[in-house]
Amino acid sequence: MDCLFCKIIAGEIPSTKVYEDDAVYAFRDINPQAPEHIVLVPKTHMDSANDITEDNISNVTAIWRAIPKIAKELHFAENGYRVINNCGEDGGQTVNHLHFHLLGGRKFTDF
Ligand code: 5GP
Ligand code: ZN
Repeated sequence: MDCLFCKIIAGEIPSTKVYEDDAVYAFRDINPQAPEHIVLVPKTHMDSANDITEDNISNVTAIWRAIPKIAKELHFAENGYRVINNCGEDGGQTVNHLHFHLLGGRKFTDF
């Protein structure tokens, strides 16, 4: 499948990895919107949040298990952070492999 994030997970496109387990790969965003901007993806491809089902929601659980671990490891857990999922065209999704943005290191004022 011609998917940018599948290629990053496979190591075919280089990335700066910050975390990995059986289900999750997390790496630094190439165009960071905050001092800390990490993208978390399930290793199993799904296009977007619209593809989450009872059968694959364990991948999302794994991502949420990783989020506070990464925030603590990178020392911004205590100050706080923002997690964003963009879904589909109106949501502003540009890469069609489900992913969550973990943003930290600054205060987010706008919604
Ligand atoms: P979306 O807009 O789909 O929610 O987020 C896609 C994100 O992927 C964007 O923040 C964009 O900067 C990031 N991105 C796109 N291509 C690459 C890449 O080749 N490497 C990395 N590390 N991030 C990428
Ligand atoms: Zn993919």
